[in-house]
Amino acid sequence: MDTQLVKHLSQLKLAGIIKTLDVRNQEAVKSNLSFIEFLELLIEDELSNRKDNGFKKKLYWAHFPYTKTLEEFDFTSQEKLDKRQIFDLATCNFIRKKENIVFIGPPGVGKTHLSIAIGLKAVLQGFNVVFTQVSDMLTNIIASKADGSFFKKLKYYTDCDLLILDELGYKKLNPNVVDEFFEIISRRYEKSSTIITSNKSFKEWGDIFHDSVLASAIIDRIVHHCNVVIIQGESYRMKDKKLKKDIAKSIS
Ligand code: ADP
Ligand code: MG
Repeated sequence: MDTQLVKHLSQLKLAGIIKTLDVRNQEAVKSNLSFIEFLELLIEDELSNRKDNGFKKKLYWAHFPYTKTLEEFDFTSQEKLDKRQIFDLATCNFIRKKENIVFIGPPGVGKTHLSIAIGLKAVLQGFNVVFTQVSDMLTNIIASKADGSFFKKLKYYTDCDLLILDELGYKKLNPNVVDEFFEIISRRYEKSSTIITSNKSFKEWGDIFHDSVLASAIIDRIVHHCNVVIIQGESYRMKDKKLKKDIAKSIS
């Protein structure tokens, strides 16, 4: 390959063209492509490389703990769950409408799974997503107060298109950061979307926030434009275990 050309392409940040130049050149010679056709192919390669990089960056920044997809979700084990509602949410129109989602249900019923699955669809559509457990977010906020990066952290949790707050209610919140939790929710209100997963009903949220007035101010802002999804039933983890036991028994 012409090293001078590669150097210039690199200066112009055309990494996608650098990757395919050789192959496209051979293709152009073999297939007798016109200069315009050759150029078109290279530009398409550059665009698709940029899109791919954009997706990878957004996926990295979303900080999903692992990958879960909607396709993997077994709706037959959650008969009461409105499948249409979940697929509708997965279109990410709720993000365009600045709506929220709250998944409420006992442990193991798929709240985190569905949040990640919807979050992944959002990344695929080019949205900036941040996934965090509530306790991690608040620990980060406390640390940021100590090291002077508080406003930067606040901006991080406030500015993304979709903030996924996992596991609200498993632990009581540190009373020193309840105000910051409210601050984040209120800054995002009607500007961007938030998904919250919780094992507690709204009635019990007062307890999590130590303060029923603050809790109702938070709930007010979250549920104003919100899709509440209540998931019932037993833990899928238990079902999975039972199923594995049954299979083992049947073949032993
Ligand atoms: P929750 O957040 O409600 O406590 P999770 O989403 O963490 O539950 O689910 C627990 C485990 O069970 C995960 O591995 C998840 O992928 C799986 N799981 C839960 N519900 C389903 C389902 N309906 N179909 C497939 N896997 C499921
Ligand atoms: Mg969970």
